[in-house]
Amino acid sequence: MVPRKLRPVGCRVPLPRKAGTVFPWETRYSCEYTRSGTEALSLAVRLAIAERPDVQSPEVLLPAYGCPDLVAAVVAQGARPVLVDLADDESPLMNAGGVVEAITGDTVAVIAVGFLGIPERLKSLSEVCRANELLLIEDSAQCFPPASVESGVADLVVLSFGRGKPINLMGGGALLIRKDYLDRFMSFISVYPLIRRKISPLWHLKRTLFNLMLSRFSYALMEKMPFLHLGETRLHSLEDVCRIDIPRSLVTAGIQQYEEKPVWQQLYSRKLSFMDRYGWVRLHSLHESGAGVGGKCLRYALLAPNQYERDTMIASLNKAGIAGNSFYGKALSNIEGVGELLGKARTYPAAEAFASRLLTLPCHSGVTEADIEKITSCFSNLAR
Ligand SMILES: *Cc1c(COP(=O)(O)O)cnc(C)c1O
Repeated sequence: MVPRKLRPVGCRVPLPRKAGTVFPWETRYSCEYTRSGTEALSLAVRLAIAERPDVQSPEVLLPAYGCPDLVAAVVAQGARPVLVDLADDESPLMNAGGVVEAITGDTVAVIAVGFLGIPERLKSLSEVCRANELLLIEDSAQCFPPASVESGVADLVVLSFGRGKPINLMGGGALLIRKDYLDRFMSFISVYPLIRRKISPLWHLKRTLFNLMLSRFSYALMEKMPFLHLGETRLHSLEDVCRIDIPRSLVTAGIQQYEEKPVWQQLYSRKLSFMDRYGWVRLHSLHESGAGVGGKCLRYALLAPNQYERDTMIASLNKAGIAGNSFYGKALSNIEGVGELLGKARTYPAAEAFASRLLTLPCHSGVTEADIEKITSCFSNLAR
C-alpha cells in the first residue's frame, strides 16, 4: 500500500500576483526584509541594544516555551536570553509578574511571542516596557496579521515567511519598524548588506518541487528518511544578518493566499468540544478574548490532561495518517544546547507542564473536512 500522511504544517508557495494592495502594516511601520524570521529578530535585538548604549551586558526577556531560534537571534547579538515562565500550565503567554521580576538594569528588550495565532498581551507589556526604557518586540512569526499593525503598540515586529508559517515564500522574514523610530535606527540597519532577489526560472523550479513535497505521499515518504530530521526541534546558531528585497508581487500573493485559506479552528472547536469532559483544554477557545482574533490559527492546539494521554493520542493520529504532534516537545531550557546559553540554571514549571500536555493539529490549506472527521473519531475512541 502507498503510504500517505497529512503534513502538520506548510502552505503552498504562491505565484507572484499583480501588486497594488497596501500591506496591513504600512500605515504605522516601515519594513526591512531579511533572509529569515530569525535574522529579522536578531536585527530587532541589535536595535534594542543600540537604544541603550549605557548597558554593558544586555539581556533580553523571552518566554520559556518557544522556538530555539529566539535564543539564537539574541545570542548572535552578544546579548543574554533571560527566560520568563508561562502564566500557568494552560497558557502559552508569559507570566506578567515574572516579566517585571526578570527586569534588571541590563534588560534592553522584551520579545512578546504570538503562539500559533494567539497574540501576547501587548498593551500591558508595552506599559511595562515604557516604564523601564525597554523596546517591545512583537514576534509575529506564527500570527498574521500581527496584533500591533493597527495600534502600533510594539516598537518592532517580526514576521517569518518560512515553511510552516502563515505565509510561506520558501524562506524570508521581515522586521517592521515603527515609523517614529526610523530616523534613528536607519544608520544601524544600513550596515547590513542588501541582496537582490529575483523571480527567476530557477525560483519557479524550486517552487514546483517545494509544492510537490507537500503531498501526503511525499510527507509519508520523507518521514521515513531520518537524515532529513523532519519536524525536529534543534538549536541552530545564527551566523549573520542580510537584508534582501523580496518582490512586492510575491508578498502580495502570500498575503492574498493567506486570506483565501479556509478557517478550520471553528470546526475543530465544535467537533472536539466533547473532550472538555475528559479534561482536555481547547487552547484557542480559552484565549479567544485576546486581540487579533479573526486571524487564522497556524495549528489547532489542545492540552491533554497529562503527557501519557497526549502521547497516546499522537500515536493514534499518526496511525490514522494525520501528523498530529507535540510541537517543540520541551520547555526551551531543556532543548539541547540552550541550557548553557542561559547562565544560571533555573526551572520553569509552567512551561514544562505546558510542553508535556500540548498537542497540535494541522490547519493548513491541504486539510479537508474528512480529515477533521477522522481526527474526531480518534478522539472519540480515546474517550471510550
Ligand atoms: C519560526 C519562528 C521564528 C524564526 O523564523 P524563521 O523564518 O524560521 O527563521 C521566530 N520566532 C517564532 C515564534 C517562530 O515560530
